[in-house]
This record gives sequence, C-alpha cells and structure tokens, in this order.
Amino acid sequence: MDIHIPTDIYMVDLHSQYLRIKEEIDIAIQEVIDSSMFIRGPVLSAFESELSAELGGVGVLGVANGTDALQIALMALGVGPGDEVITPSFTFVATAEAVGLLGATPVFADIDPHTFSIDAEQIQALITGETKAIVPVHLFGQCADMSAIMDIAESHGIPVIEDAAQAVGARFEGRTAGSMGDFGTLSFFPTKNLACFGDGGAVVSHDPDLLDRARLIANHGSMKKYHNEIIGINSRLDAMQAAILRVKLKHLQEYSDARRLAADRYDELFSDVSEITCPVRDERSTHVFHQYTIRVIGGDSKRRDALQQFLKQREVPSFVYYPVPLHLLPIYKDDPTSCRTGTMDETSRATNEVLSLPMHTELTHAQQVKVVDTCRAFFNE
Ligand SMILES: *Cc1c(COP(=O)(O)O)cnc(C)c1O
Repeated sequence: MDIHIPTDIYMVDLHSQYLRIKEEIDIAIQEVIDSSMFIRGPVLSAFESELSAELGGVGVLGVANGTDALQIALMALGVGPGDEVITPSFTFVATAEAVGLLGATPVFADIDPHTFSIDAEQIQALITGETKAIVPVHLFGQCADMSAIMDIAESHGIPVIEDAAQAVGARFEGRTAGSMGDFGTLSFFPTKNLACFGDGGAVVSHDPDLLDRARLIANHGSMKKYHNEIIGINSRLDAMQAAILRVKLKHLQEYSDARRLAADRYDELFSDVSEITCPVRDERSTHVFHQYTIRVIGGDSKRRDALQQFLKQREVPSFVYYPVPLHLLPIYKDDPTSCRTGTMDETSRATNEVLSLPMHTELTHAQQVKVVDTCRAFFNE
C-alpha cells in the first residue's frame, strides 16, 4: 500500500488561520456558553450591525446558511410556482436549487468569459412575462457586471438578488457585493471568505420593508410569537457562530488583502507560463479571490485534467469549480425552460479549462512558488 505523505499545501488552511486568533475565538465561544443564550440574543444583533457597517450600511439578517438566504430572499420577493428566475449555469447548484424548492424554474444564462459571471447581454434575451427575479452570482470573489445587470433589471422592473456567497467584501464601482440589488445573500460556510465553524449565512438589503419580510419568513412567518402571519421557515444564525464571525469580521480586510497579495504573486510567478491564463480583473471591481482560478488553454478538458493529475502526484492540490454546469445536470438537462438558451459556449469552455489553485489567507510565497514551478514543469515536459 502506498504511504501517503501529507502535503503542507492545502486548498484552504482553516487550522492555521484559527491558531492566529485562537485566544479571541476561544473566549468568544466560552462567553456564549456562559450566557446560555444560544439562539438570537445580543451576540447575533451585534454581529448583524457590525457586518452592516462593514458592508457600507446595508441591513443584515443572519440566517442558517447561504442556500436558505437565497430561498428566503426569493420568498420575500414572492417567487412561486410557474415563475422563472434567470441565473448563470456556471455556479454552485444552490443558486438554482432554492428557485426549484419554491416551484419556480431557473433559466440558465451563459457567462462572460472574463469574470466567469453571468453575461448581462444574455439576460435581456431570456426575459419573459414569467421572469420574477434575476440572480447574478459573484463567482470566485469578483462581482458580475452589476451596472449592466441593474440597467436591464430596472428597465423591466425585475428584482435582483445578488448571490454573494463567494464575494463578501468585494466591491463594484465602490459598492459592496450584495448591496446593489434588492437583496444580497451571503454564506459563512467554513471555506468561504468570512467563515464560521459550521453553517451560517445572511440576507442583506437596503430596503427595510424587504428585510422585514425576510425576517418574518426566516422566523416561521411570525414577528410576534404564536401570531404566525404566513408560512415561513426556521432559519437562524446561532449565537456561537455569530460570536466566531464577530472575531473574524475584525480581520476581514486583512484577509481580503492577504488573498489579493497571494493572487498578485501567482500572476507574477505565472508571467512566463503561456499555456494558461490568470484570472482577468475587471478594473471596476475589487476582487476578493475566493478562488484563484486559472484557465488551461485547450479545446477539451484533457490538458487541464492532465495538469491536475500531475499536480496531485506532486502533492499540490487543485480543484475544478465546476466540472458540470447546471444546465447539464440530470435535474435540468431535459427541462426546456431551464435550457432555453442554445448558446452556452463560454460556460462549456470554462468547464473544460478552469482549475482553481490553493488560495487562502495563510498561503506563503514558498508554497506558491512550488505550485507554479510544478505547473511549469508539466508544460515543459
Ligand atoms: C457556498 C455557496 C452557496 C451556498 O451556501 P451554503 O452556506 O453552503 O448553503 C450558494 N451560492 C454559491 C455561489 C456558493 O458558493
């Protein structure tokens, strides 16, 4: 049997990040235990207002996870059976799943090859009388073209929910991800840029009425106990997770800077490797590099898969986000409404070419040199 020698390079390094703030985190957790206030209470309220301040004043509602956040936002906008919601095919399944859970149908659009996010021009062509929302995803930590998306949405009177699960703290023309549409949704899943020690998420909105509606839905459809007004769900960010998030929120700027610095170093180290392209940065955006995703140029996925295999043999982890676009998943592939657009060329190309490399707040220069040297060795073979 092969003996597996563990590598010191990880896709994400949650443990090293924890060790640097261990004392603060441990105290915060102990305080929640001592208070016995595990659900709601002052810790959650404090986190919601601190995150609101960090995101430029948008209202924040803590919920159980990023998928619930999407579902709650869709419910608050009244999305239901027979409705259509335009969203990219190149994303994590949760974006479309929340739509389907409400009896509505996701309608998939192709992506802009530069940002990997929804192609604003395609949205226009997909709008029908049934379209009840547009859900752009700020993939890999960079915002979609929110200026074009908001123009189209406003001209048709269609609300926008920004899936900002991967982009907390990112900006577009100075405005924070999640704060530009009617709603924004965040995930605090352990590998996300602002992450707790379990599941967590948030719904954000500048519109106090919409946020109240979301709050009502997330709390069994009731504001006043035992006076349930509508059918809601139970979706809470618990106090323990909020306490952890409060500590990490103080470091969010520093974490985003560390990711950007690591991305700059990758760009620099890859400058002589012509077989790949580095992430393209939209100059209107502040990228927070949830992922550092290169493209391995080639017609099909063979070259990319071979590189990934080569890296793996040399203890360099990498990951394909996402190997199957949503419009090709068994759930959606035969749905004529979901797959209305015939042109998924950029989504298909991205699926074949993308490879995400180790990216986290603790990544060292030496580790990045190893990653890039190993890639270079593959292309020089
Ligand atoms: C992580 C993620 C979600 C879901 O968040 P959870 O907290 O895991 O439910 C939704 N959309 C995108 C784009 C994500 O990356």
